[in-house]
Amino acid sequence: MQFRGYEDLRSRLVSRELTCQQVIEAFLQRIDAHREDNIFTAVFHDAAMLRARELDAKIERGEALGKLFGMPIAIKDNISMAGAPLGCASKILSGYESVYDATAIMRLSAEDAVFVGRTNMDEFAMGSSNENSALGPVPNPYDKSRVPGGSSGGSAAAVASDLAMVALGSDTGGSVRQPAGFCNIVGLKPTYGRISRYGLVAFASSFDQIGILAGNCDDAALVLEVIAGKDDRDATSSRHAVDDYRAVMGEVSLKGLRVGVPSAFFPEDLNAEVSGLVMAGLKKLEAAGAELVEIELPESDFAIAAYYILVTAEASSNLARFDGARYGYRSPASEDLSKMYVNSRTEGFGEEVKRRIMLGTYVLSAGYYDTYYKKAQQVRRVFQDRYREALENVDVIAGPTSPFPPFGIGDKMDNPLEMYLADVFTVPASIVGMPAVSVPVGFDSLGLPVGVHLICNFFEEGKMLGIARQLQSFCQ
Ligand code: GLN
Repeated sequence: MQFRGYEDLRSRLVSRELTCQQVIEAFLQRIDAHREDNIFTAVFHDAAMLRARELDAKIERGEALGKLFGMPIAIKDNISMAGAPLGCASKILSGYESVYDATAIMRLSAEDAVFVGRTNMDEFAMGSSNENSALGPVPNPYDKSRVPGGSSGGSAAAVASDLAMVALGSDTGGSVRQPAGFCNIVGLKPTYGRISRYGLVAFASSFDQIGILAGNCDDAALVLEVIAGKDDRDATSSRHAVDDYRAVMGEVSLKGLRVGVPSAFFPEDLNAEVSGLVMAGLKKLEAAGAELVEIELPESDFAIAAYYILVTAEASSNLARFDGARYGYRSPASEDLSKMYVNSRTEGFGEEVKRRIMLGTYVLSAGYYDTYYKKAQQVRRVFQDRYREALENVDVIAGPTSPFPPFGIGDKMDNPLEMYLADVFTVPASIVGMPAVSVPVGFDSLGLPVGVHLICNFFEEGKMLGIARQLQSFCQ
């Protein structure tokens, strides 16, 4: 059972060609058939079928149907869903169940979406390959010897393999966009504050955003419309009005649109096939009337350096709550309280998470605060100023999503610094808080997907998705 997108699914449900139960059953069967790919950490067989039955009854009673009626959605393992396991792909949360729904979950439910399961990820969303999962890696749907990207690797693989129509992920430095690029789908990180973080397990709170992975820009826009907006439970959520994104997308014209192409996003050592495919995509925008404008932005390497100081600082504080006393795993063999804390954390966290907690604690320590943390905050401000200035002269900033195509499972696990560079082009938008999206632009000579990355000004998600949709249509 294949769909061209949600419009197609919805019209077939409304015309009664299909029932919700048939649709959800087909998705669940595909999920089961892909079990060995390790994409899901939990599958909601019973709950999803029950929900489908309720929705079918709704249509029979002639009731009004929600905006996402019958849409099968997968949820990353770091977003709370009442009564469902919440593991963040970490041993330290083993056995833990969420006690409440995240705001995004409540809003999706209210519009009649159906949750099919929870997706694998890098532990606590720290990583770029999904290999830092306590549950093991996920293969890339286009080449099983390679990674699907991360940290929302399970969400990206689920959508790319047709196991869900849309998936929620979280994006702190690229975790929705980079896996979307690696899996040939659309990955949207909205403006910081656009979607409530209530119920999203915190990694680095001043960067974290729930993001949307979908097969096309219309589905991403529709889901954004449903979950965006002010939430009294998250003080950092924005009051900015939520647009009718699909209407805004329809108004976007490429004629005279100024596309900023920074040299910082096309360094000399960039993979030649990635740069060739991305430039070819941008040339198609030009052929449709857009103007490509060379612009100057600070080198993205500085963004990576600042990012890994700021996020590790925030993570070291956010992850202090996992101590064996309140959630999940508790080390069985500890003779006193402080050993219980130490042993639980030592045994419960994986290597990358521990590396970051130590790094973060170090950069926040008395003698080093000014040298590292304060300096990184200053770099963050410089990036914010430069990106704002750049977007006074262009409508959108474009470049590759990732400096290289999907890499082999195991290839970068011994070299954390090289792994950190996987996000060199996605981290700047996270540092400044602007919305960004990855759109498929084609395949390299090995048949591996490559994505284009677009950044727009604050709250311009509609315009950005409108550009992205046209770009995607030119590249198919
Ligand atoms: N790969 C980046 C990191 O490890 C981004 C992660 C994310 O966006 N959650 O921090």
